Amino acid sequence: MNPETCVYAGSFDPITSGHLDIIRRGAAIFPKLIVAVLRNPSKKGCFTMEERLSMLQRSCADLPNVSFDSFDGLLVDYMRKVDAGVILRGLRAVSDFESEFQMAQLNRQLNPQVETFFLMTSPEHAYLSSSAVREIAMFGGDISCFVPSPIVEEVTQKFRK
Ligand code: ADP
Repeated sequence: MNPETCVYAGSFDPITSGHLDIIRRGAAIFPKLIVAVLRNPSKKGCFTMEERLSMLQRSCADLPNVSFDSFDGLLVDYMRKVDAGVILRGLRAVSDFESEFQMAQLNRQLNPQVETFFLMTSPEHAYLSSSAVREIAMFGGDISCFVPSPIVEEVTQKFRK
């Protein structure tokens, strides 16, 4: 497993400024960062896989060492497939800690060669989540400080009418 390659996995439905902050900071530490969108058959989500990937690509256009992919099943299996040694995660609040701690322990048990690496959120993004963005957009609120600028229009249009 290559420790220079990290995977940042999530639903990114849609990518938020909080996600982008973690991607930027992760890409400054690791030579190669893969953003992997989880295909979750039991959760349809708001944006399609193609829309999510396209929004990620447009938001990270200035980051040459970042690539994009989708996966299903266990993250540790995907890590093996792409030969990546590090799982990158963001921590927002104490409330994130418990589930992240559990996930990191389970993944470590499943494959001790994979490390989980945490970055603490920047304070301005501490309360930001994709679900909050969807809710604000649904009620016609201004989301321009909450998502990367290249996707503000697309997210706003999705919820118009
Ligand atoms: P969301 O909770 O927005 O749907 P995901 O579940 O896809 O996002 O989360 C993917 C990863 O990004 C997780 O490690 C999560 O803790 C982290 N993350 C999500 N939002 C933020 C944020 N505002 N700041 C830092 N990390 C975040």
